[in-house]
Amino acid sequence: MSIKTKFCAKCGKETDLLLDTICAKCYLDINPIKVPKKLIVVRCKKCNSIYYQRLWLTSDMPLKYHLHGILLNKIVLPESTSLESLDILNVTDSDIEFELTLKILGQRIKQTYAIPLELREKKCPNCFKGKKAHRAILQLRSENPEEFLQKISKILANYNKKVIKAKEFAKGIDLFFPSRAVVLKLVSDIKKKIPVKITETSKAKGWDRTKNKPRYISTILLRER
Ligand SMILES: [Zn+2]
Ligand SMILES: [Zn+2]
Repeated sequence: MSIKTKFCAKCGKETDLLLDTICAKCYLDINPIKVPKKLIVVRCKKCNSIYYQRLWLTSDMPLKYHLHGILLNKIVLPESTSLESLDILNVTDSDIEFELTLKILGQRIKQTYAIPLELREKKCPNCFKGKKAHRAILQLRSENPEEFLQKISKILANYNKKVIKAKEFAKGIDLFFPSRAVVLKLVSDIKKKIPVKITETSKAKGWDRTKNKPRYISTILLRER
């Protein structure tokens, strides 16, 4: 019985794990990971909300948490590789250092990067125009909120102008809308694309003088199945 030996066509390393006749390391040299040259983060100077996925997100999470999501959206991997993790190693006022763990040919490869970070401060629409009253809250929840938001980002983009406020939690975000009808439309758009479970509750809040009845705020919980 003979054991087949293979060599990388580029560096000559002996390995059974070859991709187009070259080893994993050489493959990454030729097909590099696309990492942004600079990371720009837009933050509201008044309320600290962060502009992310075309939404202004208010959140109690540290900046590092947002940077993870923003960065993840901007990294493009070459074919035949998958991202196992992205770890933020260090953040200063002007730089961000992170490590990518990739899987290629069943091997785990780590790469470290340091790129400039620019924090741009401006006023979010809420702080600029003043708050509107909300009539409905859409709670988006998932075991993997980052991935979930990515999946529905195109749908959300059609509604982001209607969002009064967005608040982030560990398992998702809450979006505040001026009307329940808008939320129902958005929910039906999401439902067409992704299997979700929907629960609605409503709570009386204030009195509608024109209709002479209580005013309700609907909370619609949408959970990814
Ligand atoms: Zn090689
Ligand atoms: Zn603000």
